Amino acid sequence: MTTKILKPARLDYHDQNFIQQLEYLLAWENVSDAKVYDTVKEIITAVRRRGDWALLNYTRRFDRVSASSMNELIISKQQLHNALESISDEQRHALETAAARIRTYHERQVQESWSFKERNGTRLGQKVQPMDRVGLYVPGGQATYPSSVLMNAIPARVAGVEEIIMVVPTPDGVINDMVLAAAALAGVHKVFTIGGAQAIAALAYGTVTVPRVDKIVGPGNSYVATAKREVFGQVGIDMIAGPSEILVVCDGLTDPDWIAMDLFSQAEHDEDAQAILVSDNLEFLHEVDYCMNHLVQGLERSEIIKASINNRGALIHVPNLKAACDVVNRIAPEHLELSVANPEALLPDIRHAGAIFMGRHTAEALGDYCAGPNHVLPTSGTSRFSSPLGVYDFQKRSSLIHFSDKGASEMGKVASVLARGESLTAHARSAEFRIKK
Ligand code: NAD
Repeated sequence: MTTKILKPARLDYHDQNFIQQLEYLLAWENVSDAKVYDTVKEIITAVRRRGDWALLNYTRRFDRVSASSMNELIISKQQLHNALESISDEQRHALETAAARIRTYHERQVQESWSFKERNGTRLGQKVQPMDRVGLYVPGGQATYPSSVLMNAIPARVAGVEEIIMVVPTPDGVINDMVLAAAALAGVHKVFTIGGAQAIAALAYGTVTVPRVDKIVGPGNSYVATAKREVFGQVGIDMIAGPSEILVVCDGLTDPDWIAMDLFSQAEHDEDAQAILVSDNLEFLHEVDYCMNHLVQGLERSEIIKASINNRGALIHVPNLKAACDVVNRIAPEHLELSVANPEALLPDIRHAGAIFMGRHTAEALGDYCAGPNHVLPTSGTSRFSSPLGVYDFQKRSSLIHFSDKGASEMGKVASVLARGESLTAHARSAEFRIKK
């Protein structure tokens, strides 16, 4: 008999308090603690005032890197090339395959400039252009993430961003070859081995060595997330990501081992990650519970999985798959697996989800690495109003307005009336000058 170490919450759609229970389950405060905030403020101020000097000192202190000048924190083109050559053929093939698929998918997202002409010759439109310079934060404190390099850098390249500056901390000076190889493949232009709030501040304000960027993308720990929030406005940011989430809807006919492991695949990210299974088959929920308890043993991150499942995991019983879709929309999950016979039939009822994985064979893990769509997705219910990272995040739009003399005369009358209604006389006169007598 397996010891039951995982105890996900049990919820039932028919329960009178179901909505309150669900809200309680989902509650997660996306706030930095005050100590982290104070530290981050201090770091940003120091980097703004003292530039490279502060950056170097913080890097020595937090990452225990023994560099004596900023030059030692720059990765050369040759080092990137060497990293690509140093990884195994199998690793290189996997990175190249993933990169090619991510590129092909994102090429379809490119937005083009457009315009149209009115009858009187007036032309209106939108000019779409890439950003000049983007900063990419690649986390490196506890683990390394070559997949994050590909997912963030490739859409920027596809958008046509001229310069991509990557920062990655290297605790104790240990550089990860897979991360650098991914940077080489993705077409990153410059790499600095710096991290945390100091790297975000350097990218936002620029130092003598680190160029100032227009937007910062990429995940990180609470110091990184707090710093991104603080520099927003000075630069653009992608999002403030919360803990990872997976919601699986299953009709009870998928192998329960598969579903258990799919839930773990997000639970293993961190202790606050959330894994939820929704099914109309009560017996199946019991089976998955059993399989989870069996399979968790022996996994490298079993302690994190245990914390995640016991804190925030849940098995939810619904009367039918229509009700399952209602639960999905209330949760608005980052990742949604529709592990059912006919996922297409459920699709019209799904309103909110960062990425939708269709059918029994579509493990969410494939999406994390190599399916092609981006793995940077809205978390904590924000898929109600936001979308996966994409090429459009690295493009910006300018409106184009070109009035003909006839058009200016016609619209001058309209503008004049509206401007006078707002008591803005100079606006009104400016428009009236162009009205033909
Ligand atoms: P990290 O690079 O985000 O943070 C490391 C840096 O934090 C260090 O360089 C240091 O400067 C700073 N730091 C650490 N302790 C500090 C202190 N006491 N004071 C000031 N600064 C300090 O790496 P990490 O810590 O491994 O965190 C990575 C995070 O990114 C994890 O939470 C992980 O789950 C998340 N992540 C998310 C995704 C996603 O797609 N959502 C992908 C990969 C990683």
